[in-house]
Parts: sequence; structure tokens; C-alpha cells
Amino acid sequence: MKDYIIKHPWKIIEEGFDPKLNEISESLCSIGNGRFGQRANFEEKYSGASLQGSYVAGVYYPDKTRVGWWKNGYPDYFAKVLNATNWIGIDLDFDGEVLDLATCKVSNFRRELNMQAGYLERTFTAKLVSGIEVAVTAKRFCSIADDEIGAIEYRLKVLNYGGKLTVRSYLDGDVENKDSNYEEKFWNPILEETSYRQAYVTVETKETKFDASTFQVCTGMQFYVSKNGEEVTEDVFEYKKPKYAGCGLEFDVTEGDEVVIYKYAGIVSDLNYDRADLLENCKRAVTRATETGFDTLLKNQADAWAAKWEEADIVIDGDVSAQQGIRFNIFHLYQTYTGEDKRLNIGPKGFTGEKYGGSTYWDTEAYCLPFYMSTANQRVARQLLVYRHNHLQKAIENAAKLGFSKGAALYPMVTITGEECHNEWEITFEEIHRNGAIAYAIYDYINYTGDENYLSEYGAEVLIGIARFWAQRVHFSTRRGQYVMHGVTGPNEYDNNMNNNWYTNYIAKWCLEYAMKAIEYVEKNAPDTWTNLKEKIKFYPATETNQWKDIATKMYLPYDEELGVFPQSDGFFDKDWEKTVADLKPEETPINQNWSWDRILRSVYIKQADVLQGIYFFEDDFSDEEIRRNFKFYEPRTVHESSLSPCVHSILAAKLGMEDKAYEMYARSARLDLDDYNNDTEDGLHITSMAGTWLAVIKGFAGMRVKNNQLHFKPMLPQKWNSFSFKIRWRDYLLEVKITADGVEVTEADGKDAPIVIS
Ligand code: BGC
Repeated sequence: MKDYIIKHPWKIIEEGFDPKLNEISESLCSIGNGRFGQRANFEEKYSGASLQGSYVAGVYYPDKTRVGWWKNGYPDYFAKVLNATNWIGIDLDFDGEVLDLATCKVSNFRRELNMQAGYLERTFTAKLVSGIEVAVTAKRFCSIADDEIGAIEYRLKVLNYGGKLTVRSYLDGDVENKDSNYEEKFWNPILEETSYRQAYVTVETKETKFDASTFQVCTGMQFYVSKNGEEVTEDVFEYKKPKYAGCGLEFDVTEGDEVVIYKYAGIVSDLNYDRADLLENCKRAVTRATETGFDTLLKNQADAWAAKWEEADIVIDGDVSAQQGIRFNIFHLYQTYTGEDKRLNIGPKGFTGEKYGGSTYWDTEAYCLPFYMSTANQRVARQLLVYRHNHLQKAIENAAKLGFSKGAALYPMVTITGEECHNEWEITFEEIHRNGAIAYAIYDYINYTGDENYLSEYGAEVLIGIARFWAQRVHFSTRRGQYVMHGVTGPNEYDNNMNNNWYTNYIAKWCLEYAMKAIEYVEKNAPDTWTNLKEKIKFYPATETNQWKDIATKMYLPYDEELGVFPQSDGFFDKDWEKTVADLKPEETPINQNWSWDRILRSVYIKQADVLQGIYFFEDDFSDEEIRRNFKFYEPRTVHESSLSPCVHSILAAKLGMEDKAYEMYARSARLDLDDYNNDTEDGLHITSMAGTWLAVIKGFAGMRVKNNQLHFKPMLPQKWNSFSFKIRWRDYLLEVKITADGVEVTEADGKDAPIVIS
């Protein structure tokens, strides 16, 4: 855990330059606009440790997964989110000596992410080896008002030098992914073009045999340089090499001069334009940016963010650390996914790192959906669900590859196109609970929005595919007289290849029951749709549903009488379960970085508690006493080394009235990356778990639930907080909720009377 970020309600601030923390800060201060994103790398050359990252939404490389220990059923490729053309580069050369913070004496360093207005700012003073001193302030953003534009203002004050200064502004598509094997590069050159102060680079992902499609990205820039307010008019020189193009200016400076560089970038891909028109559209974006100018672009950016904050903000009074945490989470969620493009989804690292390569995990349905459901137009949440309907055929093919038939659908653990991209057998084949979360999201969405039509339009078909999968995945144990499920991994990935994982069995049973309810609904309310659907998917009601009913009634759900808790899986209590996290030495944690995998698998320690995940989803099925017993058993054994873990514990602790635990888990979720709890922020941020932080406030502290078409609140105000307030959209209402020590106040924006229950 680290504690170097300065607490501020609207800003993420790092003061002082510590190269060891650089990659963490690069992640924390990443910027993005849903269409592209950029880690907080430096504009000028930096030869120290850095994870260079410029990412373009939906652009990936299908990297081969075939290895010597290949197993039938493995996917052929793993979709890698690609580091794309670096558009921020500005090099400064003082008569042959290049500004590089790795070799300078750096003072007054400050890196600041302004979340309110959506920009990144960095200031520093650098003393070069030769003694030249300069002071720099660099500001940049990825425009959310015009999502093809990025802009940089780079101000340099010459403190003690007289002589030549060369400014080079470039685009570099000759980049690598950190996770590439043998420094393999994934881009081919297509075009480099320079003209007076402008440069363009188009690159294309290398072809592979797995996927016919390659991607082209065109990046462009225009730059301006002024000295003491006057444009520098010296001749511009241009330079190019494959995948690289830039322009430069050389001019004289003296002590006290102020040089300002503006760099306007355009970034477009063939996801949105024909290849033949890419360059043209990139030029248009660059021209739009240049003509608008930095100050107006920045103002538009601030206005666009103000509009987002107006609806999505959570205000916490009295606890700046908690306030900074929640805004950091909301800010990054909206930098990652805006809901503008139905082909896109929410990657666990967003635009902040390479890890988790593909874009979509069960995280979207289990964690992110409720956030977008309450803070954005209902269309956005619906679109997230339709995304999976669009992938249904691939999910059926995916199941077929594993030997399932008759329309059984297994959604992938990680995907961009709908195809499975994960190739660790214990996850790919066994972490099948993801299917449950996808079904649960349909229920959650309809329960929240009341949009029951969704079932007949898309939902029932997905639910039937998923139910068919479960019906084939279980088998009947004659000895037990019950259905069992062998060879699974639950959300707790620290236990693999288990039999009868309580969570998976529970959600499978629920899916079968919900699919039957969905069928009943569609049959009754949209008979024609039902007739067509039955025909399309060759559904034989009585045969299939009778089997589903039998499985649902006779599903084996492990229960331990002695402890009164649900065992995570068969054999769990044969582990050394009397140990808790308190028995771990600080130097052993996080265990996934200090223990062998073998030792982790044999231990009792839990990455994220899947029994508690199940209780969280289906809380009304359990008494408070049952919830308490399970929570008290599992929480002390959970190491929370999945970012998705603490938020669920926070919500359950709040429900159980365990305020300290709820607060501790909230902080762990909200500040997971800010304080680098799991020692992995340098790889990128945990974007999807950020929605979990939001849930911890809304479902946890505010106790919000939708039951029987009413909106319920059962608040708990953490001691440190004077009050907290937020807005949510629920059905036709836009509600403002404020929770103080005196209770809850709910106001409806248009004065409408919403059915609200407060307890
Ligand atoms: C978690 C998974 C999650 C993935 C992406 C893993 O560490 O165990 O549940 O889907 O991260 O967030």
C-alpha cells in the first residue's frame, strides 16, 4: 500500500518526482474519452521506467495462443489491446542536449489530474546535465466533446540558457506492447505524410491467420510554437521514416524566454471510416482542433465534464479521502465507456494498461451495468445487454467447441468479438459462472427499469441459450439423488477445478428458473414473437422445461450444518480453514505476488468470496442471520486480491449494520488504485471494479434497492461523513438523494411523485 497521492476533492495530485512511482502515476493520471485514451506518459523524451500507452477503442490484435501443451477447446487467439501511435511526443533539444527527466535534476515536480474539468497538467523545473535549467507546464486532454481530438499545451520557460532550441513534434507508430513475446511488433506501416507543421501516420495491425480483419488507425497532428507571445516563423523541417512522422523548428532562445507549443491531434480508425477516407477524416479532425484552438477546446471539455458531473457525481461531505476516491472512480468509468458506440464495452483496464487484453468480462454485467443504469440514459444499459445478444451465436459456437449442443450458449470469459479469448483451462473451461452474471444482468435491468419488453425482444433468447448450457453442464448423481456440477472454478480463482461450487450451482439453478419465467412472460405477452422464436431456436417446450424444472428442484447446494455456512465447494472444509488473513505476515501479501500458485491453491485464502457474491445477488433468498454467519466466516479469509472483491463485502457489511467493516471495504475499493493496495496499479487501473465502488455507496451506504416497482433506501451514514448526496435516474424519475444524520431526503427534479420507501 502506498500513500503519496495528495488528497483533494477534485484532483489527483503527485508532488515531487520519484521515478519508482512513475508507472503508478502514469496509470492514475490516464486520460480518455471513450474513443481513445492515453497513459500519463511524458510528452518529452523519458529514458526511465515507463509503460507507454496510447489505446484506441475496439482496436486489437488477435495474438496466437497455440502452445506445446495445447488442449482441445482452447481458443486460437487472445485479443490484445494494442499500444497505438504515440501522439503526445514533443522533444526538446538544447544545442544537442535533449530534455530527459531521467537524466536531469528535477524539482517542483507536480502531476495533477483535474477530474472536474477533464485534463492532465504537469509542472517541473529541470536542470540538465550541462546545467541548463528550464521550467515546464504541460497540459493535455482527450476531448469528450469531440472524441477524435486530443490537444496539448506545452509551456517552457528558459531559466538560464542562451542558444539554439529545437522543438520536434512527432507521431510514432513504431511502438511495442509490453506483453508482446520477443519484442514482436504488431503494426505495419501504411502511410507517413508531412506538410508544413502537420504530420500523419497510418498504421495497420499485422495480419494473422485467425481473424480476417486487421485494423487501420490514422493519427495526425498540427503544431504551433511561439516565443514570448510571437509565433516562431523559422523554417519548419519535416522528417519521416516507416510508421513515424514529425516536424521540427530550430530557433534561438535566451534566458527568460517563454516558449509555448500547441499540439493538436486527430485520431481515427477504420472502425468508423472507410480506409480510403481515413486520412481525409483525420485531417478534418486536426483542422477542427486547430481552428477551435486550445483554450476553447479546453472550455468545451470542462463544459462537457460539468454536464456529466451534474448527473453522475456523488458528494461526500466531511471526508476528503472518500470524496477523492469516489470521483476518481466515476471519472475513470466515464473516460472508458460513454455508451456512444454499441460495439464497445468496458475493459477491466480501460485505456490505462495492456493487462486483460480483451475488452469484455463478466465484470460488465455483474458490476458496471447498475452504474450506467442509474447515471446514464436507459439506452446505454440496454445497449450493454444487447451487446451480449449480438454475441449469442458466437456463445453457441463457443459451447459447441467444448462439446455442448442444441443451442447451448457459453459466453466467453474474455472477448471482443464474441469469441473466447482466454486460454487458461481452469478459467476458459471452468469459470462458467460468467453465464450466470449475464442472465442476472437481464433480470437486474428489467427489475430496475421496468422495461419488460426486453425479454421478448432479446432477453428470452439469451436466457434459453444459457439455460440449455446449464442443463447439459450438470449431471445427476445417483448416489446423492441430486444434480451436481463438477470441474468448475468460481469467482474465487484461488481454488480451481472444484466440484459443486456453491455459487455456480446456485446461479445455474436460478438461471433455469428465470429462463422458465421469461418464457412464460413472452408466451403470454408476445405470443407471435414466441412462436417465431421457438421455431428459430428449435425449442421444444415440454421436453426442455421439464428437464430444467427437475434440475432446478434437485440441484445440490452444499451446506455445512456444523458451521451453518455454505461451503465454497466440496472439500472446502478439509482445508486449513481455521487460518485467517490475520495469520499472514505483511511481507507475504499480496499472496499472488509472494507465494507460488500451488501454495495459493492449497491454502484457505480467497481472492474474492464467491459465496458472498451469491448472497449479494440473491439477498432476499437468505435471512439476515444466514448472511451474517456466511459473512463472518468468509470475510476474514478473503485477501481481496481481486479488485472486484471489497465492494461486495462493503455492501453486505452495510446491510448487516457493520459500519466499520463497510467503511474499510469502501475505502479499499475506492482507493484500490490510488493507494496501490494490491501493488499492481502500475499495470493500469481496475476500471470495472470502480463501478463496484459506486455500488458500495449506493447499495451499501444508501441501501438502495428496487423491490416490487418501488425504490427503497435504508441508509447508513459513515461516522466520518457529515452527509452524502447523489443523483440517480430511475424509470421516468431523476432523483436527488441526500443522506444526513437526520435521515434521507429525496427530491424529484420535475416534482413528480416517485414510489419511494425509506426504512
Ligand atoms: C478476477 C476476475 C475478473 C478479472 C477482470 C480477475 O482478477 O478474478 O473475476 O473478471 O480479474 O477484472
